[in-house]
Amino acid sequence: MSTRSNIRIQSGNRKFQIYRHWDGYPEGVVPDLQEFFAWNKGRNDDLSYTIANFFYFFKRSAEENEVEQRKEDKRIEEFTGPSWKNPTHLSGILTGYGIVEAQDPEPETWIEWFYVADLDEKTITCYEVGRTDPLKCEHAELVFHSKHTLVAPEKRLLANGIAVVGNKIFEVPSKTTPGQTYTVTLEPAHCNCAGFKYRKTCSHLKAAITASGEAVAQ
Ligand SMILES: [Zn+2]
Repeated sequence: MSTRSNIRIQSGNRKFQIYRHWDGYPEGVVPDLQEFFAWNKGRNDDLSYTIANFFYFFKRSAEENEVEQRKEDKRIEEFTGPSWKNPTHLSGILTGYGIVEAQDPEPETWIEWFYVADLDEKTITCYEVGRTDPLKCEHAELVFHSKHTLVAPEKRLLANGIAVVGNKIFEVPSKTTPGQTYTVTLEPAHCNCAGFKYRKTCSHLKAAITASGEAVAQ
């Protein structure tokens, strides 16, 4: 099923917005964006070239996947048409991305997630689009979910299995579910676990604070 999201890419007071039709939750979008910004690093200082490269990058990825798929399907002869400009060739491959007009105030009501990639701040901020009245789409609001670095930096391992990504974002393992981690930030104090939503604090946040203190003391 599609999970629809909008991705705003901004720099200074300029902003463009991209629609993503598929897998719009943070676990799907953030790694894709970080992979793109890592590849685009020479042009992350320029909004218009970045946006242009964005569509090139994901179209090319989609084409490469399609070619691989067709090779596996032994349909390679369909792919080797006379020219890549042939409309029956690769142009019809869907990336699921499109340009939309940036709207204020956010959010658009028919999306489920909203992202802000800030080229100056070098961060990606994730918001869930909450609806105060599920029957009335117009009452949508952005609920802060988590903050990430524009390009995934090296992870450093701290005490108790906690990792810190670029000094500011902590990955704290769940005590009950092996393999699951929660994303914690200290400023603002936030964890994406269910408990934090209600209590505004949780064991993961406390563990991250302790681990960051110990890291500073080293
Ligand atoms: Zn938590």
